[in-house]
Amino acid sequence: MLTDYRVRQREYLLEISRAMTAQLNLDELLRMVLEAAANILAGQAGLIALREPDGSFVAKASYGLPEALLPYFAPLFTDIPEDVNVQRFYIPGLGEKLVAVAARLGLHLRQVVALPMAIKQELIGVLYIFRAYGTRFTANDRQILASFADQAAIAVHNAQLYERLSQEKRRLDAIVEYSADGVMILDPAHRITLFNRAMVRLTRWSAAEAVGRHHDEVIRWARLETELDLNKAVAGGWPLPSASPLYVEGDLRRKEGGVVSVGITYAPLFDREGRLVNIIADVRDVTRFREADELKSVFISVISHELKTPVALIKGYADTLMRKDAAWDQETVQESLAVIVEEADRLNQLIDNLLDASRLQAGALPLKKDEVALDAVAERVARLFSTQTRIHHIVVRFPPDFPTVIGDAARLEQVLNNLVANAIKYSPGGGDIEISGHVLPEEVVVTVSDSGVGIPSEELPHIFERFYRGQSERHQRTPGVGLGLYLAKAIVEAHGGRIWAESTPGKGSAFSFAIPVKPLN
Ligand code: ADP
Repeated sequence: MLTDYRVRQREYLLEISRAMTAQLNLDELLRMVLEAAANILAGQAGLIALREPDGSFVAKASYGLPEALLPYFAPLFTDIPEDVNVQRFYIPGLGEKLVAVAARLGLHLRQVVALPMAIKQELIGVLYIFRAYGTRFTANDRQILASFADQAAIAVHNAQLYERLSQEKRRLDAIVEYSADGVMILDPAHRITLFNRAMVRLTRWSAAEAVGRHHDEVIRWARLETELDLNKAVAGGWPLPSASPLYVEGDLRRKEGGVVSVGITYAPLFDREGRLVNIIADVRDVTRFREADELKSVFISVISHELKTPVALIKGYADTLMRKDAAWDQETVQESLAVIVEEADRLNQLIDNLLDASRLQAGALPLKKDEVALDAVAERVARLFSTQTRIHHIVVRFPPDFPTVIGDAARLEQVLNNLVANAIKYSPGGGDIEISGHVLPEEVVVTVSDSGVGIPSEELPHIFERFYRGQSERHQRTPGVGLGLYLAKAIVEAHGGRIWAESTPGKGSAFSFAIPVKPLN
């Protein structure tokens, strides 16, 4: 009879052990352990306290007890010995502590047994089983549960490791997902298995569309900057286990057209046997570096071209004037000096524009704000330019009582200067140039129109870009560096306004800007 019971008990324990090892959810596992232990020892309630990193013990699961009461059992988790031998494991005064807690809570719990849960002699938790009636737990009871408690400890330890691992994985997933760089993971056949948010932003492929596809379907190069791409590198034997990452740079075709400049670092991942497991690709947007590079080369070519002409003129005239063997009449001297002054002014203007452009790139265009009468500014600009041209006729048309705006008078004058200078430059045959003002409910609009060569419609969207110059030969021959409109736009936008152009090729152009009349704060 008794042996029969023992056999059944052992079978039950075995079954529970098996179930325990399969359970990786820590909460489920603890519940399972408690229930089994209570069943085996005919207990009515139980608790498991696990050791925290700071060494203290905290109740993590209960059986037969309301969850809300768990904190009251804290006294039972003190004075826990380090000796993990089941027979010797003894918490001093445990019985009395239980009686006190039970009395306080009005619970019928009389007897308690505490069993160590240890791994390699290290205590990771304590299993408590309570009985409501008086029968004491015997040494035999302890013995029955000894190996069970050890097995439970292993299962708990595994579940804890698993939990920590899952947590770590979730953390890594979040890091990858929100990384500013694009991250893509490929399997050995180059199929995409992970595609993060930044990848979606760069390529315009959604993660759902990209995952499962072959690398080459998503990574399509419009232009390669480096000699190799992934396929060429693989054809050449990349990667070997000792391989360094592969770097590929170029313009990537986006899903729905357009390109983006990226640099991709492919890092191979091998298993212990040296087999390729994954390729991890880090994709970085290099547009800004590319732009900076391009800007540098444009800058240098502009400088060399545009600075050379006035410097050559100044030097030529100055050399001539300096010649000792010639006696120049007053008129020639005056004319030569006028050219020198004019070219020096042009140089100054160019240097100022380049400085402004570099300041803008650094993100700053400070405004000295004041009340500005744009009609008066227009008059000044017209007067100034009228003295410089005989073939153009500059007229100013503003309605009376034109409202003032809050802004930087010198900067707004610079805008008008640039627009009028362009109108003159791009009307080589002369003609009327009109500066007019219009009042709208919330803004004022100033327009500079000319009857010059005009702008082809395909160039219109680009004329406000930095260093952009008209493509026609005539435009290319006209001096300029392509900064005037770029600066005008930046200044107008710093005032909270807009600037735009309309043009009919061969007939003329009109440039307008609007400035809000409400004071800026
Ligand atoms: P730049 O005049 O130095 O080339 P801008 O930034 O002032 O640079 O102008 C950019 C381009 O816009 C010019 O190269 C020219 O092609 C075009 N453009 C500007 N203003 C006019 C205009 N009034 N008429 C025709 N084309 C113009």
